[in-house]
Order: sequence, then structure tokens, then C-alpha cells
Amino acid sequence: MPGETDFLEILWDADLQQLMLVACPDGIIVTDADDRVIMYTGASETIFGYAPVEVLNRDAGVVFGSASEYQDFHSDLIADGSVVNTELTGLRKGGATFPAAVSASLLRDRYGAILGTVMYVRDHTQLQRIEHDLRDKNDRLNEIVATLDHVARHDGLTGLLRRASAFEEAERKLKECVVNGKAFSVALFDLDRFKSVNDVYGHMVGDQVLAALSLVLSHAARQGDILGRFGGEEFVAFLPGADYAAVQKFAERVRLAISAAMIPVPDGDAVRVTVSGGIATIPRCAGSLESAIHLADNRLLAAKRQGRNRIVSDGEHDKRNAA
Ligand code: GH3
Ligand code: MG
Ligand code: MG
Repeated sequence: MPGETDFLEILWDADLQQLMLVACPDGIIVTDADDRVIMYTGASETIFGYAPVEVLNRDAGVVFGSASEYQDFHSDLIADGSVVNTELTGLRKGGATFPAAVSASLLRDRYGAILGTVMYVRDHTQLQRIEHDLRDKNDRLNEIVATLDHVARHDGLTGLLRRASAFEEAERKLKECVVNGKAFSVALFDLDRFKSVNDVYGHMVGDQVLAALSLVLSHAARQGDILGRFGGEEFVAFLPGADYAAVQKFAERVRLAISAAMIPVPDGDAVRVTVSGGIATIPRCAGSLESAIHLADNRLLAAKRQGRNRIVSDGEHDKRNAA
């Protein structure tokens, strides 16, 4: 084991210092007070492709791709005394540019006069590629998360919101309506005698009919309306900002559109289905989402009892409220 004195001798050995500079994995460029290259060592040759003789005595800017960028960097260096890890456009012999991370310090004599600069240059090509790769992967991951979120919130057959997601969104919109003093309406729909569609044409065709009718519902809705699949062949529409008259009109429009729709099925046949509905408006008929849905559901059942293919709006409950 060398003693302390031996160690210092090794450390201050000029040849060793030279070796350390040459072995440095970064490019090392030393310039004089006029920013001319006076030392070009470390990995400079590997990074830039120039041999030392091609660079020595030339402006240091020769190995950078953007004169204005280098000027700014140099001004910062003069002003601050050092610069750490600044991204500059490196320029290789032959004209190819690359991302260079440059750290630099001013070299001053003992009186503070600037002797020149020392720059440590790292080729960030690989790092930038990894960064781009990571960004791409991150973008793809975000897309997958968004897709999964969409799948989790939407019904696969109809593309409408699932019951719980529709509720969640409705609660959020209802709060906004309450704050802004706007009405909020609910319409519930249940296809009439849908079981017979399955019985006659089979479940697969029944599925197609459900998907087609949910499209009819979507077309009748406006931007901002919240449409959900409430259950098997039941749909819900939450209409933020719609008053009682508006939801009556909407539900009637849906009923007519569904009863007019001819849904093609195999064998050249077409299925026609009717729908029953119940509606309610906050604050006119109910004070909360839950009670509005409950009321709309009761009215939907009343529509079924009254013979189907109809929308029930006013009921005994409203008459009592109005009284
Ligand atoms: P009503 O007029 O009283 O509502 O009669 P209905 O036949 O529509 O009502 P019921 O509740 O007796 O039956 C509902 C039917 O809806 C039965 C079920 O097979 C069908 N259904 C529910 N979900 C789906 C689905 O995802 N796909 C298909 N094909 N049919 C469904
Ligand atoms: Mg039904
Ligand atoms: Mg039903």
C-alpha cells in the first residue's frame, strides 16, 4: 500500500494528468480569451469527428451548429462564470448535428482576468433517443389508460355510459345546474315487449336492435346530455339545463324516432319496436337525483300500465305538488 506521500506524487504526475484528460468520456475543449480552441482532448475527437489539428486555433463555435445559440451560451458563461448542462446543437465534421450537453467554466488568472474557458461536452444523442422512446411509450400508455377508462365507463353493446358512470356524471352536472339556477331533467325509457324480439329473432339480433335503438336515442340528444344504459333494455337520459317542457319534447321525440325506426335484421326483415318513458324535472318535481329517478321510474311503469308506446310526465304526485 502506498503511503500518503507516494499517493500525492502519483496524483501530481503530469503524465498521469495527461492520461486522465485523454481518458475523459466527455469532450474537453479549452479556449483562450478570444474563444479560440487551445486544447481539444478527452472524447472530443470521437464526439465531433475532427482531429485536433482541424480545430486548434479556430473559434470554438466551429463545433456548434447554431451561431446564435452558441453566442447566448457564451454570454451566459461570461456573465455567470459557469454554466451547467446546457443543451446546445453540436456539429460533427461532415455537417451532422446532435444534441450536446455542455458544462463550462471561465478560467481566470489570479487577478481575475479572463484567460479563456473550459467546456465539457457530452453527446446526448443516445439519451435523447431514450427520452423520445420513453415519451412515445408514455403517450401509448396514456392512450391505453384512456381506452381502458372509456371501456370501464361505457357499455360495450350500445356505447352509452354504464349506469354508475351516468349517475356520477349526472350528479356532477346537477350540482352545476343548482349553482346556476338551471333546471335538470331525467327521462327513463324501457323498450316495449322486447322479450318478443329475442324470442322471434334470437338474442344476437336482439343485441343489434338494442345497439341501433341506442343510436336513435343519441341522435335525439343534444351536446351535453348524458345518456346511459340503465339496465337490459332500459335507457336513461339526464338533461342538464332542460326544464319540464324541454324534457317532455325530448322524450316524445325519442319515442317517435324509435317507433319510426326500421331496424334491418337477417332474411331481409325489419324490426320495429316501441318505447315507454317516464320523465321528471328538478326542482319542479323532485329535489334530488335519486328522487327524480324514482319518480321517472314510477311514471315509466304507469306508461306500461296505460298501454305502452307513450311518455308519462304529469302524475298524481305533480298534481299534489301543484295544489
Ligand atoms: P315490457 O314492455 O313490459 O318492458 O316487456 P319486455 O319484454 O321488454 O320486458 P321484460 O322485462 O319482460 O323483458 C326484457 C327483455 O329484454 C328480456 C331480455 O331478454 C331482454 N334483454 C335485456 N338485456 C338484453 C340484452 O343485452 N340483449 C338482448 N338481446 N336482450 C336483452
Ligand atoms: Mg321492456
Ligand atoms: Mg325492462
